[in-house]
Amino acid sequence: MGTVNFYDFNMSALEQFFVTRGEKKFRAQQMFQWVYARGITDPEQMTNLSKAFRAEIPQLFSFDLPQTIKHLSSVDGTQKFLFDMGDNMSVESVLIPSGDRNTLCVSSEVGCNLACKFCFTGKQKLLKRLSVSQIMGQFLQVKQACPDQPITNIVFMGMGEPLDNPEAVFASIEILNNTWGLNLSRKKITVSTSGLVDKIPLVSKSGARLAVSLNGSNDRVRSDVMPINKKWNIKALLDACLEHYRATNDKITFEYVLLAGVTDSLDHARELYHLTKNVPCKLNIIPFNEHPDSGYQRPKDSAIDRFQHELIRLGAHVLRRKTMGRDIFAACGQLNSTANKHPQLETLSQ
Ligand code: SF4
Repeated sequence: MGTVNFYDFNMSALEQFFVTRGEKKFRAQQMFQWVYARGITDPEQMTNLSKAFRAEIPQLFSFDLPQTIKHLSSVDGTQKFLFDMGDNMSVESVLIPSGDRNTLCVSSEVGCNLACKFCFTGKQKLLKRLSVSQIMGQFLQVKQACPDQPITNIVFMGMGEPLDNPEAVFASIEILNNTWGLNLSRKKITVSTSGLVDKIPLVSKSGARLAVSLNGSNDRVRSDVMPINKKWNIKALLDACLEHYRATNDKITFEYVLLAGVTDSLDHARELYHLTKNVPCKLNIIPFNEHPDSGYQRPKDSAIDRFQHELIRLGAHVLRRKTMGRDIFAACGQLNSTANKHPQLETLSQ
């Protein structure tokens, strides 16, 4: 049984691993091809490797993936998974179909220190930053469980703040993107942050798309809903977004959760428009998904419509998320006490 998990290595780390063992660097490419591109982990089937090297593989690597605790399928095609992360901890991943896309929302941490008030995960302190193999494992397990719904897009928008676990998140992005491996375009990968301004340049460097959880149209409201705003205010955040745009030419996605009586007035809509109008972006408005003890309510549909129409009238590029997987969403609390945090079982509608 190998001593290290193969799925913890990106290409450069694997090359380094082989070089320090006196092996050829190109072994890393060969292994990536077998494991990621062809889905083969049995060394005996890796026919272009020497017999001696094949015999060594089981001593070097394990190919363990997080075990699936639950898998729920919605009538609308949404698939929800609960994965075991050891030590009695678990995280969720959700596969969301929309047209010809299947977007996988992955988790990066168990618990979260950012303490956004509307978020269920934020009520629980950070318990664990996931390893590369625990992030890759979500992708690989879902890929295997849903062969009829090939994953086309990935969003780091599940449990945890991805930029609070940058090493594992960006190593995973490299593996997902690697041409010898999964070969997923970086433009199909989105990292969503609550606003860790100093880490946003890492997203730019990675080539992934940037989404920002804004959820407040002025510093007073945002600081109340998202404590991170006291460290980096809206101006600092928007400056970092503009820098990202200049570096990548990619539009930013701003997510804005509509909380009844807190973020959903027409004045908030106007403020939001003026705040973001100079940043190349689209706005995703997300009616709050109520959960027990959140202290917030979802606005009435009429208020949501008014908010959206005001933004459209002003000329914003705005999308509204439609809830998906209602039939399995109801069971979320039974899956995991930390479930139901992000409004993630959703897709976009104009
Ligand atoms: S919304 Fe994201 S960053 Fe905020 S507490 Fe929840 S998991 Fe953490």
